[in-house]
Amino acid sequence: MTLQDRLRDVESRLQEACHRSGRDRKDIQVIAVTKYVSVATADAVVSQGVTHIGENRWPDSKAKWESLQGQAVFHYIGSLQTNKVKDVVGRFDYIHSLDRISLAEAIAQRAETLDIVIPCLVQVNVSGEQSKHGMSPEHVSDFIQQLATYPRIRLIGLMTMAPYESEPEETRPIFRALRQLRDQLNHDLALETPLKELSMGMSNDFEVAVEEGATMVRLGTVLVGKEE
Ligand SMILES: *Cc1c(COP(=O)(O)O)cnc(C)c1O
Repeated sequence: MTLQDRLRDVESRLQEACHRSGRDRKDIQVIAVTKYVSVATADAVVSQGVTHIGENRWPDSKAKWESLQGQAVFHYIGSLQTNKVKDVVGRFDYIHSLDRISLAEAIAQRAETLDIVIPCLVQVNVSGEQSKHGMSPEHVSDFIQQLATYPRIRLIGLMTMAPYESEPEETRPIFRALRQLRDQLNHDLALETPLKELSMGMSNDFEVAVEEGATMVRLGTVLVGKEE
């Protein structure tokens, strides 16, 4: 399949998932995850009009960022070490992997230095899988209340990764739980701006995630392919 074919195919699958669940396609942001592909392919993706790019490591994304800065919106979706924060804040427009106070502290400090506010999502380990990053759901409420002391961090929503399932339908409870957590937090915490974003759904399971309320889907293999 060519890139164009994949983009068209994903688009029609997204529209069908929206149709099945009574959602508006405009409420879902596609993030093209380019970690498996070259700078040239990432450039081609943006030329085709998919202008939100996701990457999970700074050294691997540097060349793509340099090529596409100003033309694309960059999402940092990988786990983030505190000592790498200086590379990411100021370059990436969103951080999806906020999962501990020490990281919030480092991000806030860097943002203060640069005099910017950075939109972040709290990464939640809904499945409880040991291999997954993110905080457990029961700690999110306290964490968000602590984040109120960091005005440089604008909290916009929650992110999760579902375990890989050969049957995508089996991911549904994970995505539903993240949506319910967001709604519960919005009900319980008097946030100035309610949490809106749900970053969930990857190549294998994005249609289920959309049906369960995803507002951001992170698509690598299915959308941009995979190169050596
Ligand atoms: C790699 C990655 C993706 C995209 O993976 P695909 O299955 O290829 O779509 C999405 N989210 C995160 C956090 C990733 O690391």
